[in-house]
This record gives sequence, C-alpha cells and structure tokens, in this order.
Amino acid sequence: MQRQKISGKANQFTESVIREMTRVALQYGAVNLAQGFPDFACPQELKQAAYEAIEADVNQYAITWGDRPFREAIAKKVHWYLGLDINPETQITVTCGSTEAMAAVMLATVDPGDEVIVFEPYYENYGPDAILAGATPRYVTLHPPHWTFDETQLRQAFNANTKAIIVNTPHNPTGKVFTREELTLIAELCQKWDVLAFTDEIYEHILYDGAQHIALATLPGMENRTVTINGLSKTYSVTGWRVGYIFANPELTAAIRKVHDFLTVGAPAPLQRAGVAAMQLPQSYYEELAKLYQKKRDNILQILDRVGIPYFLPQGAYYVLADISKFGYKTDVEFTYNLIKNIGVAVVPGSSFFNQPQKGHSLIRFCFSKRPETLQAAGDRLLKLQTTLQST
Ligand code: PLP
Repeated sequence: MQRQKISGKANQFTESVIREMTRVALQYGAVNLAQGFPDFACPQELKQAAYEAIEADVNQYAITWGDRPFREAIAKKVHWYLGLDINPETQITVTCGSTEAMAAVMLATVDPGDEVIVFEPYYENYGPDAILAGATPRYVTLHPPHWTFDETQLRQAFNANTKAIIVNTPHNPTGKVFTREELTLIAELCQKWDVLAFTDEIYEHILYDGAQHIALATLPGMENRTVTINGLSKTYSVTGWRVGYIFANPELTAAIRKVHDFLTVGAPAPLQRAGVAAMQLPQSYYEELAKLYQKKRDNILQILDRVGIPYFLPQGAYYVLADISKFGYKTDVEFTYNLIKNIGVAVVPGSSFFNQPQKGHSLIRFCFSKRPETLQAAGDRLLKLQTTLQST
C-alpha cells in the first residue's frame, strides 16, 4: 500500500487566496487592492531605528520571547491605549507577526477534539490555524449590512467541547467594530463555559466616523481568559517586517512561549529595536493615522459610488466588502479573475472568507491602504466595468 505523503491536516485547506491574488496581480500588471498592505512608506523613526540597530550589530538572536526593551515598550503603550497593566516579564511574547502569534496560541492551548468558535466571514488564517492545532472550527454567521450576529446562534455554538472563541475587532474583511454589548455577551459566554478568547486587534487604531475600539481583555472577568494578539504590520505600515506580539496571563504565556520557541525561535532582533521606536511614537501619530485612513476610506467609497458597485460601510480596518451580484457572474472567483485580467484591478474574492464558498459568491474585498494615486488609478480602470455592465 502506498503511504499518504500529505498530512490529513494539510489536505483540509487550500493555499491562501489573499496571497495568491498578489501573485496574479503581479502577473497581469493589475493595481493590487487585494492583499492587505500599504504601498506607502513606514514612519521614518522606525527606519532610522532599524538602520541603527543593524549598524550597532544587533543582528543575533534576541531572547526567544522578545527583546526586553521592546516588551517593556509594548507594556507602556498597552497601558496608555487600553489602560491595562501587563507585566513584560511574564505576560508578553514577541512573535513573527500576528500570524505566527495566532498559530502559536492555538498550538499552545487547543487539543484535538476541541472546538474553536470563529465568526464568519473571517480572516482566512483562522480556519487553517484551528485545523493545524487539531481542533474543529465552529462558525457563527455575521449578517450584513451591519455584520451583526444572532444571539441564539452564538449561545448554541458554545458547548462542553468549546475551548476558545476568536474575536477580530476591527474586523477583516467586513470593517465591523464589535460593540460593547456584543463583547459583553461574548465575555458572559466565555465565563459561563470556561472558554478562552483569542482576540486579534491588529487594526485597533484604524477606526472611522468616531468608532471606538474596545479591547476584550478590558471587560470584567476577561483579563485572565483573553489572549490578545497584535503587531506592528498595520499600525506602523511594516507588514514585511514580521513582528507581532501577544499578551496573556502568565500561565498561558509560559505555554505560548514554549510553542513559539520551537516554531520560530524568535522575531527579527534589529526590527524589535525599531519596535521600541514604534511604541514610543506620540499620540498625534495615531490621530494622524486615523485621519489618513478616514480619507482613504472615503476615497474608495466615492470610487465605488461612481462606478456603481454597492458596498457595506466599514467602521474600521482598511477593507471594504462590495456586492457584485448585479454583474451577473456565477461566482466571485470568476468575477475577480475578469477584474484582474480585463480591467486591471486585483481584489480578493469573497468566498475566501467563508467556510462554504457559496456564501461569498456575491462579494469581493477591496483593500484601500494605498496612496491616493493608486486608488485613483484603480478607480479609472474600474470605470470600464460600467461598459461591461451595459453590454451584458
Ligand atoms: N490578522 C488580521 C485580521 C489580518 O487582517 C492580518 C493581515 O492582513 C493579519 C492578522 C496578519 O498580520 P501580521 O502581518 O502581523 O502577521
């Protein structure tokens, strides 16, 4: 009998569609509004600190769970922004991006047979992360237009096998910002069922129209059962640096650090020094960032209005989900490939955010963390869609 070469786990998911779209965009010379990364420079303070660290020979392994000055700077920034007191010695783990963070957290806490609740649509990585840890993802639907969940469905998703729930706020791909009421219900259920919360707050500073970010760990009874995941990628426009961090109670942190050590040993040492500079940026940096993104969001919405593509208004993060049903394509994937090849704009097909692809067939996701000229170029190209519409 021939031995199965590929693991059952790896066979349960496909490659990332988000990342695939970047490759296809490059192949066809399309404007890339698919994968979530800025096409503008990161703050000069970060570049300078990175150059200086490399020049000062900070080029060897840092302590596996993170360079101490960086962990201390993270603790200070978390205290300032969220009002939480976390101990950098026992509660913070620095990782290779928040991507590694979520994988390490799952592998450290979840066993085969456990269930992990995931709100759907979801950021693509969560399903495979749960599967790699041997767990079964259990999906709870977020309903448009405001991406609310049904309380009964959420209550029914919790059971004796539930080990954790993943919350992502502000949310990719919908732009939803979870309300205090919603988070309070999640917190109540976590406590009732003795469940952990893994919260991905990587877009915590990207908020629109006065929306407020509420960190799950700040809710009563949640500080000890919440694992908060964050990183430099989005707030400081350095997605290629691969620096993230986790904070959790000391017991969970010890387990996460063990897994992280064997997964990657540690995050890039000189970039952790630059991370200190990031954490020390003044409050005005975050205010300017929010203003900058508000302009970008309004810009893409104007473009979509002009082209006539309906969308769901994002309150946070840097994506907008749009409804393509009127274009008459069978699937979102077919529409996306047409858009890339014939119109010259790359987006992410909505189905990649759903467990059952058909649920996303009428959706595409635009990333708008781009320079005005990039958005303008995409807008000009998208106008061609009107002609396509008229001819169908
Ligand atoms: N979490 C969410 C919700 C994201 O949207 C992304 C990237 O798009 C990530 C995590 C990945 O972040 P990192 O670059 O820190 O690995």
